[in-house]
Amino acid sequence: MAKHPHLDPDCIFCRIVRGEIPCFKLHEDSDTLAFMDINPVQPGHALVVPKFHSKDLIATPAEWVGKSFTAARRIAEAVEKTLKPVGINILQANGPGAAQSVFHLHVHVIPRAMDDGLTMNWQLKPGDMDAIGKLAERIRANVK
Ligand code: AMP
Ligand code: ZN
Repeated sequence: MAKHPHLDPDCIFCRIVRGEIPCFKLHEDSDTLAFMDINPVQPGHALVVPKFHSKDLIATPAEWVGKSFTAARRIAEAVEKTLKPVGINILQANGPGAAQSVFHLHVHVIPRAMDDGLTMNWQLKPGDMDAIGKLAERIRANVK
């Protein structure tokens, strides 16, 4: 914990940051980690988290919000280059009413397809880990 004084031992995303739970990593720097969502609403769905545990946007110091969204921009650029989707949604949920399920700030980077039927507050459906891993490799190659 000394290396990451801002992390919570019981939080799933803090545990991913500490390497205790595996992820399909896309990029890491001293302040943020980007990895694939394992219940993707669309292929290429990625998440960016700060290495700072706080439950949502309002609870997070502006400095860490800035770092998280700056990192999300980097991942969106790599997703754009890799998949050339018709669009990309950046999404961040606050509270159960907004369908937030993990209470550590995270930014969704979601590539869109025409008529993909995606609506807000989707149900979690486990993805194909092989396909997620392969896509992670392709996007990772485009992270600058
Ligand atoms: P939210 O509903 O906005 O709180 O989003 C939480 C997201 O975290 C969901 O899209 C989940 O699929 C994703 N998620 C939960 N656990 C993991 C995990 N171990 N690895 C990758 N993504 C995860
Ligand atoms: Zn956390």
